[in-house]
Amino acid sequence: MPQPPLPFVCRFAPSPNGRLHLGHAFSALVNAEAAARTGGTFLLRMEDIDTTRCRPEFERGILDDLAWLGIVPAAPPRRQSEHFADYAEALARLEGMGLVYPTFESRSDIARAIIEAEAKQGRPAPRDPDGAPLYPFQRSGLSDGERAQRRAAGEPYVLRLDMAAALKAVGSGPLFWPEARDLPEGPAVAAPADPAQWGDVVLARRDVPTSYHLSVVVDDALQGITRVIRGMDLFHATSVHVLLQRLLGLETPVYHHHRLILDGSGHKLSKSNSATSLLALRTCGATPGDIRTRLELDAPQPTPRM
Ligand code: GLU
Repeated sequence: MPQPPLPFVCRFAPSPNGRLHLGHAFSALVNAEAAARTGGTFLLRMEDIDTTRCRPEFERGILDDLAWLGIVPAAPPRRQSEHFADYAEALARLEGMGLVYPTFESRSDIARAIIEAEAKQGRPAPRDPDGAPLYPFQRSGLSDGERAQRRAAGEPYVLRLDMAAALKAVGSGPLFWPEARDLPEGPAVAAPADPAQWGDVVLARRDVPTSYHLSVVVDDALQGITRVIRGMDLFHATSVHVLLQRLLGLETPVYHHHRLILDGSGHKLSKSNSATSLLALRTCGATPGDIRTRLELDAPQPTPRM
């Protein structure tokens, strides 16, 4: 039987660890305008799991910048820092499936092991799609009993997904997600997911008991998001998100990865570059219309290709 179309629910999910820049404005506008065109819902989420770097004044600044751009979310923002219990529940489920293990190496232990492996093998260590070396150790390097003991003794740890076991748990057959290629609200094609290229990703730390990957997947499901519209820089991360959705029995939304706004030298904008912050542009007298023009929002949108 044909299924009724899903409601269109999308979100903008900034981290309140600085002011918004032009790249954020683009993402927020693309989301809000797709929701408006489809009669859908636009939601906001504060990705503030890093409670040391996120601050209430940045959250206020984000709300102020969005209002200035004319963007009104349908509900008050969901703050990740208020929902650690939801992430703990998902993590406990994955742990119960035997897919999570604690690791105790420091960052410098890991860096040293990678340098040694590269010297020994005479070639670069395998890297994830963002260019970071994969976790170089094996789960089998310590017994589960030893790991449990060290964790209980209060040693700092990081919880990782056992990627090989997770792939086995979702069974054979390739993983895909629906990707809307042209318009954010347009039809989707199947994009192949390849989570193995990320290795044993971090799902939680002792001090921050979740991770970006885990909380984004849990929250997209809890907020009823049916369209994830975000930058191309997160295209490959979607592979991990699809895997976690399958493991946790969550629906996979349709994704649309939009083009990135680059600076004059072709680099992705960053929060440390205050020249492109909306606050700086506003202070210099820019109007919301100027921002739209600068972002070429009203021109035909080129489709990014991987
Ligand atoms: N919080 C992420 C960021 O600011 C966005 C996450 C997402 O859209 O999935 O880059």
